[in-house]
Amino acid sequence: MRTTLATLLAVWAGISTGRAQGVDLLLVDGTVYTVDPSRPWAEAVAIAGDRIVSVGTSADLRRLAGPRTRVIALRGAFVSPGFNDAHVHIDSTGALLTGANLLDVHERARFVERIQAATARLPKGSWITRGDWGAYEQWNAGSAGAAGSATAAAPFLPDRSDVDPVTPDHPVFVNRFDRSAYFANTLALRAAGITESTVAPPGGAIDKDASGRLTGVLRGAAADLVARVVPPISFEQRLAQVRAVLREAREGGVTTMQDLTTAPQLAAYQELRRRGELTARIMVRPQLWEVTHVAALGLSRGFGDEWLRLIGFKAWVDGIMGSSGALFFEPYAHDPGNKGYPRHIMFPEGAEGAALRMTASQRYTDFGQGNLEKLIEQAADTGLPPHVHAIGDKANRILLDVYERVLTRRQMVDADHRWRVIHAQVVHPDDFARFGKLKLVAEVNPYHVSDDMRWMEERIGTQRNEGAYAFRKLKDAGAVLVFGSDSPGTNAARYYLSPVYGLYAAVTRQTLTGEPAGGWFPDQRLRIEEAIEAYTRAPAWASFEEDLKGQLAPGRLADLAVFDTNLVEAARSDPQSLLRAKVRYTVVGGRIVFEAGR
Ligand SMILES: [Zn+2]
Repeated sequence: MRTTLATLLAVWAGISTGRAQGVDLLLVDGTVYTVDPSRPWAEAVAIAGDRIVSVGTSADLRRLAGPRTRVIALRGAFVSPGFNDAHVHIDSTGALLTGANLLDVHERARFVERIQAATARLPKGSWITRGDWGAYEQWNAGSAGAAGSATAAAPFLPDRSDVDPVTPDHPVFVNRFDRSAYFANTLALRAAGITESTVAPPGGAIDKDASGRLTGVLRGAAADLVARVVPPISFEQRLAQVRAVLREAREGGVTTMQDLTTAPQLAAYQELRRRGELTARIMVRPQLWEVTHVAALGLSRGFGDEWLRLIGFKAWVDGIMGSSGALFFEPYAHDPGNKGYPRHIMFPEGAEGAALRMTASQRYTDFGQGNLEKLIEQAADTGLPPHVHAIGDKANRILLDVYERVLTRRQMVDADHRWRVIHAQVVHPDDFARFGKLKLVAEVNPYHVSDDMRWMEERIGTQRNEGAYAFRKLKDAGAVLVFGSDSPGTNAARYYLSPVYGLYAAVTRQTLTGEPAGGWFPDQRLRIEEAIEAYTRAPAWASFEEDLKGQLAPGRLADLAVFDTNLVEAARSDPQSLLRAKVRYTVVGGRIVFEAGR
């Protein structure tokens, strides 16, 4: 076994250097939570090269120090394996971080200020896009629903006379969070050829003020006039975006990100790696419709190395809760004509309209073999697992039906396949057991609980919410839970890469301000040890990397995070204090990539 050999070599290297020069890095006097079930707690970690060579007491490990060893006395600080975020949209997170983040903006001065700040981060001539202004006009960030509503009289709308003076070199084309309005500055209007005499296309509107002057606000189809002239971003800008995400990751103790990857993104990761700038490992997931290309090239599971590795294919069954696009058996409570919709990768289906027609007593596979099932068959041929998004109860049923048929036909149910259901957000009561029976991984986003609970009951009622973000039920059924931030979040809220938000949400099921008391569906809360495992050891396992990382043990990669707060104690005594926990050091492959105050 390769891993056993690697382990022995690493230990041997550590011992031999220990005799001569000492190990490279020694962390002592810490509170080390190893996530290694055979030895959960320790005081010290010794690192040689990119590997952990020993975990134990400070007294024992100090003997491995030599003249060249950097010794860090942690004074009780908390050490855990580096966090492995199983669900990051690196491209859109980077765009948000380097562009203009307007989520919390709903008045003129701040709008102008944020746009101006973005011009300083972006080269002249680059477009400032997205933005998502006005998200918190409806509720204050982090609060609970209606009780926390901000009271804005009329929705804020920007005007180009305010923005033009600060954007002489940057076309601006940003949108309100719900896409009900877009805003273009004069440079952007000019690029699109929009003038006061332009007639809005059907289904669109071009706003003018009382004197007939363009305000820059565009609606509906009129926004497409600008959207189609926005050029793709430059490679340098893409690198800058990835760098911004890497910075947020290392500041949060995240040492691996599992991405949803496009070709230009992968090129950027490779370039940053060449330049020595990767400070987190990136697990790559192309979209499932690329399966024929991946298969043609002979790429399979594990292709790549410990920095950049191919781990699966991403696909989607349905839309999302935020836009009422998640697919349900019964209509939305607030929108009785709507049960959500299937995503385009589902088409053609085995029978026309199958996903929409199917009832709670039916199986999706009874309608024949649709496109999703065919692609999953091809993925199975490559050995790369499918990782498929399913949010509504019907979407989860559809995916379980498809997985069950393919796994059964290929006699793979017991074959250690590690196929994933992404989100598993609202599961029908009859379907929990199937997660265990089919030995599936549930890749969930705990922070959704803190954010979505504000409107979940209003949208799908109380009963269906008994199966919503039901982490305890999934775990009890036998699913392996892995956590991801889902950064950058929804277009109404930022989800940060820092794992403390997800840990807090999983153990409290409360908003950031602690509502409701006792937690939302509190029987679904997890213990902090389970939550940390879902953010470290479990995602490493789910990517077939359990022998490489996910716990602090000899032979594993030296990826770890040091916090100023004991996360295990904090979760038990004062969960709110998790949110204030700060990272002191982040170490990736034995290299300190973040040090607080430096
Ligand atoms: Zn996502």
